[in-house]
Amino acid sequence: MHIHIFWDSMAPEGFQVPVARSISAIIGVPATVTENPVRMMGYVNARRQIDAQILLDSLSAYKHRHDIHEPVLIVVSQDLFREGSSSVFGLARESVGGAVVSSARLSNEFYGKTGDDSDIIDRLIKEGTHEVGHLFGLGHCEDRECIMFRPDSLDELDGKKKILCDSCRGKLETARSERELDVFT
Ligand SMILES: [Zn+2]
Ligand SMILES: [Zn+2]
Repeated sequence: MHIHIFWDSMAPEGFQVPVARSISAIIGVPATVTENPVRMMGYVNARRQIDAQILLDSLSAYKHRHDIHEPVLIVVSQDLFREGSSSVFGLARESVGGAVVSSARLSNEFYGKTGDDSDIIDRLIKEGTHEVGHLFGLGHCEDRECIMFRPDSLDELDGKKKILCDSCRGKLETARSERELDVFT
């Protein structure tokens, strides 16, 4: 099994390798990065945002068509929202095995501060791993330093560490071994 990371052509260039490597290391499953082949559905002109649910519908259709059963994470540059939320860093749908994360609100520039590539890489790793964690059945965690903590702000995101707490790690290991078993049965 491996995690597919679909990197949109508009998403920040040059971060693919460090982001994929770290997501793979934290989850404990190999990850590959390719250019995103999924149709970028869900863009709402008036909001200049993508409806993350519609993009996940599009991903679902793509996975079905290409018979992909493994987890997929799409990385986009456009800002995301979902019904009931003015913006989201990312969104996962476990039933589809698909998730999306956006770099739009992960740059310092977005908040009027000096840009720093390593900050964006760090945040993409945390957000990307968080969404992939959901695809392995992990829920949100109360531990503010755990990857599965749900941040409400960039500060809270930065306060997280690039690790899973012991409890989430245990749940992930169980989920992972069940999935590996699926391959053979
Ligand atoms: Zn979450
Ligand atoms: Zn946790």
